[in-house]
Amino acid sequence: MAERYDTIIIGAGFAGLSAGIRLAQFQKRVLILESHKLPGGLNSYYYRGKGQLYNSGLHTVTNFNAKNRRWGFGLICRNLGIDSGEFRLVPPKHPSALQIPQGELLFGNDPELLRASIAREFSSQVDGFDRFCADLKSPRDPAVLQRAGSRELLGEYFTEPRLMDLLELPVYIYGGYREGQIDAATFSTVFRSIFLEGCGSPPDIKHVLDLLIARFKDLGGELKTRRRVAQIVTDGGRFRGVELADGTVLEADACLSSAGLAETGQLAGQVWGDSGDLSVFETVVAMDRPLDELGVDRTLLMVSLEPEFHWRAPEGRQEYFHLTLAASDNYAFSERPTAHHLKIGCFQKGSLWLGLDEETYRQEKLRLEEKMLAELTARFPGLLDEPVTHHESLTPKTVVDYTSHLNGGIYGGCVKSFDGGTPVGGLFVIGNDQAGIGIMGALTSGVIVANYKVVLAGN
Ligand SMILES: Cc1cc2nc3c(=O)[nH]c(=O)nc-3n(C[C@H](O)[C@H](O)[C@H](O)COP(=O)(O)OP(=O)(O)OC[C@H]3O[C@@H](n4cnc5c(N)ncnc54)[C@H](O)[C@@H]3O)c2cc1C
Repeated sequence: MAERYDTIIIGAGFAGLSAGIRLAQFQKRVLILESHKLPGGLNSYYYRGKGQLYNSGLHTVTNFNAKNRRWGFGLICRNLGIDSGEFRLVPPKHPSALQIPQGELLFGNDPELLRASIAREFSSQVDGFDRFCADLKSPRDPAVLQRAGSRELLGEYFTEPRLMDLLELPVYIYGGYREGQIDAATFSTVFRSIFLEGCGSPPDIKHVLDLLIARFKDLGGELKTRRRVAQIVTDGGRFRGVELADGTVLEADACLSSAGLAETGQLAGQVWGDSGDLSVFETVVAMDRPLDELGVDRTLLMVSLEPEFHWRAPEGRQEYFHLTLAASDNYAFSERPTAHHLKIGCFQKGSLWLGLDEETYRQEKLRLEEKMLAELTARFPGLLDEPVTHHESLTPKTVVDYTSHLNGGIYGGCVKSFDGGTPVGGLFVIGNDQAGIGIMGALTSGVIVANYKVVLAGN
């Protein structure tokens, strides 16, 4: 007889862990299955050198100042029964910046910094910015916003295309889940999360993952790593169980999957969603000295090198040079964080990396790594004075290998299931493909789908 659970969750990333904690508060048997040895999925960690810890994704955690119990960080802490202080998030030490070839804006955890920057560079647009921010705090009907694009929304508040480019840049860098435009609802959420609620960082991402796992296990939840779900078993259009790669069959009343909509469809033998082709290349550089001593005076820096901001690769190119730089130790830590490291990345057509032979893959990696390092040192020449103690790069293939997301997708596919529903009864998606993008988005998604689709719906 197959072992039976109340709910099975696929994936121990942020969505899977938050859903697990929420359900373990109401149900007796909740199981999280994770393919990999370590939890975290797209935002995990690894060790290099003499046991030095590196975050594999973390640039920043959004919604830092969100105290509202019905939204963002406040909602997550209340639902998970974890005190916000336990996350040990600290604010940035330095401002962040947005750059396009024609200009720059500064921002930080006080929205006034961005407002003052807009007033200086685009004085006629400040009223629009004030109206936009006020409206974001009391959002319009999400169903209406989901049908509109981000440019259409910004066009209601702003008349200056260069400013719209600058405001879109970070939101797409941290949540542009498909080429072209994203929907206005996701745009509004990510904008509010970054600019109105600010950013912070834990000492390392392992700390947050350990905190979530400890809470899940305290509530009686079971986490099994190195257990890949090979198939989702359905019966008369309803979820029945999963078959693992080793042939074990497990049954449950419901299943929440953070594998992705298209990926979950594949597991169920069906075709759902559209995985898209958007992935990332990122180079990590570590040094022995604090980065701000070497002249790195920004915490986050988003740069578009393209003459106009479009969220797609120009014809004939595999990458788009919207750069994202994150100085991981430029937060107000009281202790020394993981390593003094910087990350610089650009966006890629993921599929083009997957069929490469070993030598071409190596050369492509080297080519882009050199480009990233040149862009980095052009902006912060002080880095040239300090030896690099470690560097390596993540490609779309790395993302596929460690998360199983098709084409190395980092914000999910092009199609979202906003209510988490799938064509199979009792089977729901959580995380990126329920539009819960980023760490806070994924945590929120796990809580909301668990609450509405399992606990309240009695699934
Ligand atoms: C390089 C990079 C940097 C990022 N930086 C930031 C940042 O600074 N701030 C931020 O907020 N967000 C950031 N993000 C985005 C953020 O990491 C994701 O949006 C978020 O982690 C998604 O969480 P998730 O739980 O939805 O999915 P995932 O993290 O993808 O979790 C899904 C899990 O399911 C597992 N899985 C898949 N298929 C199976 C299967 N068949 N059986 C068992 N397990 C399976 C995977 O191994 C994975 O662990 C970054 C992403 C990347 C790639």
